[in-house]
Amino acid sequence: MQNLKMKRFIILNNLKHLPMTLKFLLFLTFLSLSFTIQAQESSSSNSTTSKNSSNSSNLNTSSAFTNTSAFTNFSTSSNSNTSVTNSSTSTNSSAFTNSNTSFSAREKQDVRVSTPGLFDKSKTIYFNLDSLNAQQWSFPLPGAKVISGYGARRHHSGADIKTCAKDTIYCAFDGVVRMSKSYGGYGNLIVVRHANGLETLYSHNYKNFVKVGDQVKAGQPIALTGRTGRATTEHLHFETRINGQHFNPNIIFDLNNNKLREGSVKFVKNGNGVVVKPVKNA
Ligand SMILES: [Zn+2]
Repeated sequence: MQNLKMKRFIILNNLKHLPMTLKFLLFLTFLSLSFTIQAQESSSSNSTTSKNSSNSSNLNTSSAFTNTSAFTNFSTSSNSNTSVTNSSTSTNSSAFTNSNTSFSAREKQDVRVSTPGLFDKSKTIYFNLDSLNAQQWSFPLPGAKVISGYGARRHHSGADIKTCAKDTIYCAFDGVVRMSKSYGGYGNLIVVRHANGLETLYSHNYKNFVKVGDQVKAGQPIALTGRTGRATTEHLHFETRINGQHFNPNIIFDLNNNKLREGSVKFVKNGNGVVVKPVKNA
């Protein structure tokens, strides 16, 4: 953005001989250009329903988790879960488990794509955070401080967390890389789709270590922090998404304390959107 201002200044100075009206027109052109660039990140990630964001930011829900509801078991390989809620998993036919390691052209190109089959069997799915053992989750940027929360800036689609330049970014959960590329205001971006349909997004990376189709593990180094795309400082722009729609990552992680939240997260399909709520486990 600094460079843009400089360029604007230099060009305007070199055009002193032009009539006033023409200068003004040029100025307007530059203004709209810089607005386009500023709007890039939010427009590329916010066109899905934002009506649910008020729901998703409510962390104080008291509704209890019920075992009869559909439950999606995050892990397909672990049998170390001891949570009460998992007892219903094996008999529940509505569980969604993503086994896809190949993606359509659109899935590799667009952050906002819906997840095929996610809500086909049930309009409600759960992600039981308590069921994960220490090897099944990782804070994406250990030691990080939140420098800008979800929704804090104009339609901020994720949380900005920061340590230092070129620090290691770790994959939050086991999954498959759906996108790994340079993507507008996001800069170098990685999107990982997890077994339960949850997606995590890591952007402004200095360097990506993984490519589309790679199977990644929780805690695996996937990138280095940078300031590619629209970023004014080296940091990680971290997003959580369900069916293409972003929601507050602070529902999954306690971002201030760098740890996984307790309980479950409930995803309810609602028209074209998804209502996201943290719930307590029974
Ligand atoms: Zn951000």
